[in-house]
Amino acid sequence: MERAGVYVHIPFCVTRCSYCDFATTRYRRELAERYVRAVVREIESFPLDVSLEVDSLYFGGGTPSTLEPEQIERLIAAVRARFRLLAGAEVTMEIDPATADRQRLSTYRWLGVNRASVGAQTFDDEELARLRRAHTAADTIALIADLRAAGFAEINLDLIAGLPGQTLAAWRRDLDRAIELRPEHMSLYLLEVHERTPLARQIASGARLAPDEDAAAQMYAVMLERLEEAGYEHYEISNFCLPGCRARHNLKYWTGAPVYGFGCSAHSFDGHKRRWSNERTTERYMQMVEERGQAVVEWFELDDEAARAEALFLGLRLMSGFDLRAYAARFGRDVLRERADEIARLREAGLIELEDHHLRLTDKGAVLSNEVFVALI
Ligand code: SF4
Repeated sequence: MERAGVYVHIPFCVTRCSYCDFATTRYRRELAERYVRAVVREIESFPLDVSLEVDSLYFGGGTPSTLEPEQIERLIAAVRARFRLLAGAEVTMEIDPATADRQRLSTYRWLGVNRASVGAQTFDDEELARLRRAHTAADTIALIADLRAAGFAEINLDLIAGLPGQTLAAWRRDLDRAIELRPEHMSLYLLEVHERTPLARQIASGARLAPDEDAAAQMYAVMLERLEEAGYEHYEISNFCLPGCRARHNLKYWTGAPVYGFGCSAHSFDGHKRRWSNERTTERYMQMVEERGQAVVEWFELDDEAARAEALFLGLRLMSGFDLRAYAARFGRDVLRERADEIARLREAGLIELEDHHLRLTDKGAVLSNEVFVALI
């Protein structure tokens, strides 16, 4: 049986960052308590009638570290009661530098959280303030030290490249400071400007510069070079790790393993063809779970064509590449024949390469991955 992951969404944040389009809501103690009760109920009501083996549990958000350790304990207990959470499971919590003190971190660790994901985003204090982040670079550095002191051996750091007006020199400084902290894992994303966010409005009004695609491509190239020099393995388009420290939970999304999501806006996949997702708003989610034990608002089954496109898209995100033999075994088709013209063009342009029964992005292809996906899928 394929091992599953469980995702729990915690929507609370202390501020609303200017670029954010996640399902979040301002933290309030009573609301958080009602929400935790709802998520516990949703997990208890999970409909599958088999006991599932789970080897990764991920608390994402929002800001899960706004929750009291006792609330995290209840959520972990609910997961344990419904699923078989295996010994040695990866248990990750996203932690915002503005929210966690030493005592709280030690208690999370004691409860079984063994991996922390820290949203640093940048080490430039003025930019952090413009983005309306609730922390400074010093807070991030202090948090990493506190996590180490609390016994966290696996830390991920998130950075954003291509911030408005960010220079290549500023990006190099961010990379250098991140590398000095030696996190086991780094997720480095190019800024995306989502509609209806304050950042989109600032750009539209001319108050902030629009992201520059050429500069972002240069930043991506610098990131590949700098992290490789520092000993990090580039294993997914936006993800890097020290040897042996790949993110087990994230890999489930990219390899098509089952992941069950709980909480508002959470998405689930059964590992075959069925996907479903929960109500996005916190209030409505809680009402739905209080009334009927679940809050699924979308449910669909991928048809064969969609499943094939998805397998190709996800497989190419991994730098190890898309496994042609696994695709043939699963779908009874040969992708080299199916998409012969597109693949020939992309190989000629130096964007993908074919080696050892795998089709993979080159470094140039990783920079232009969106173009590659559009051409192929
Ligand atoms: S902390 Fe994260 S989830 Fe919360 S508002 Fe900022 S970007 Fe969004």
